[in-house]
Amino acid sequence: MEAVLWLCCRKLLAHQPRALTQHTRCLSSCAGSALKSSPARSVGTSPLLVSRLFQPSTLREVQELGMEGRAGEIPCKSQRLMLQAGLIHPSNPGCYYYLPATVRAMEKLVRLIDQEMQGIGGQKLDMPSLCAAELWRRSERWDLMGKELFRLRDRHGAEYCLGPTHEEAVTELLASQGTLSYRQLPLLLYQVTRKFRDEPKPRFGLLRGREFYMKDMYSFDTSEEAAHLTYQAVCQAYARLFARLGLRCVQVQADTGNIGGKLSHEFQLPAEIGEDRLLICGNCTFSANVETVEPGKTDCPQCHKGTLAESKGIEVGHTFYLGTKYSHIFNAFYHNDQNKPVLAEMGCFGLGVTRILAAAIEVFSTEDAVRWPGLLAPYQVCVLPPKKGSKTEELAGLAEELCHSLGTSVPRLKGEVVLDDRTQLTIGKRFKDAGRLGYPYVIVVGKSAAEEQPRFEVCCQQSGETLFLSREGLMDLLSEVETV
Ligand SMILES: [Zn+2]
Repeated sequence: MEAVLWLCCRKLLAHQPRALTQHTRCLSSCAGSALKSSPARSVGTSPLLVSRLFQPSTLREVQELGMEGRAGEIPCKSQRLMLQAGLIHPSNPGCYYYLPATVRAMEKLVRLIDQEMQGIGGQKLDMPSLCAAELWRRSERWDLMGKELFRLRDRHGAEYCLGPTHEEAVTELLASQGTLSYRQLPLLLYQVTRKFRDEPKPRFGLLRGREFYMKDMYSFDTSEEAAHLTYQAVCQAYARLFARLGLRCVQVQADTGNIGGKLSHEFQLPAEIGEDRLLICGNCTFSANVETVEPGKTDCPQCHKGTLAESKGIEVGHTFYLGTKYSHIFNAFYHNDQNKPVLAEMGCFGLGVTRILAAAIEVFSTEDAVRWPGLLAPYQVCVLPPKKGSKTEELAGLAEELCHSLGTSVPRLKGEVVLDDRTQLTIGKRFKDAGRLGYPYVIVVGKSAAEEQPRFEVCCQQSGETLFLSREGLMDLLSEVETV
């Protein structure tokens, strides 16, 4: 029988009683469930099969990668690994197809971001990507942005840009509401959408593209003090997010650039491939983008004791206190307790969503194996059944049943378990592929599972440990796995 059909153990029992004498438990939990579907199709049945995933089933060599691969070695690790593992596929310069595994990881990241932003009162909205030139002319950024802005005209000749950021749009939206009360502030509006930037040199895969996902939040407050409190709350939410991902980001003082405003920080992930240069004090918490520090300065301006050491970083987040720069231009008022209109104090806060994915892969992976922050791995568990024709072949049904029972006994793992059904390949070959694709847990159903006291071999990628566990031990281990 083809492995595309999930085998119910009752059916299996008739053919291979020996393999399943230890597993009577599953009889009640899975009787008859997936057999209802046609054997020719596995649509909608569990488990997910590696042979059917839209992702190369073995990692590709750099030479096979087409246009980017032909240029020789790809120096950027995350770009190379993401291409090899079928996580992304190049289209135009600086643009990529995000393949299904990447979309799964990104959706998890967005759920985490939603938790943190909504945890500080953020409300999610979605603004048009087509932004009218008129709005950008009012803020003078239509000219200021120069060639970085993607510009286009509609059939009536009206000019637009594809939004790289939405200060103009959101402030105009707020101004159009007219009757905002001080009681509604602080107001924090955010979105997670595609952004566009005509980069002169798109490079490093998802680290510097021309089309990418960003989370951008805009805050409106009653006063400068209130805006500073909001600013701190967002910085703390960012710190929590990066801590949950296990990313050691540093918050550095930064230049406000063409966004404008009075106060700005970047969240930088130290990495060799990073394009930003940071100065970090060895003695205190001071850290800054070199752009903000007097050239040639090596002593710390904060503690006056430590020396500043240079490091490279990937900018994964940016925060700005804007004051009334945009509310003044677009007349974004709220009504105070005397019912007088007052300009709202604003902040804006960005996170590079697709850039965080690539940056995490950049810092966690080895040279030839993808590693994810645990919470973002596209799938948490990969189960390897024995090779077809091997002595333990009869355990194939047990492996399938295990996948199913993981999804039902540990609800958090529903949809997180894949079965590498390419049983024409040895376990060793598939184990190596699983290691390079970075599943946090790889379970081998091999010789030790055929013993009287069956043991499953579990490789934990994060710790590097290999454990031999009973079914109960395995369930205990995996019920601890955090998912989002
Ligand atoms: Zn210092």
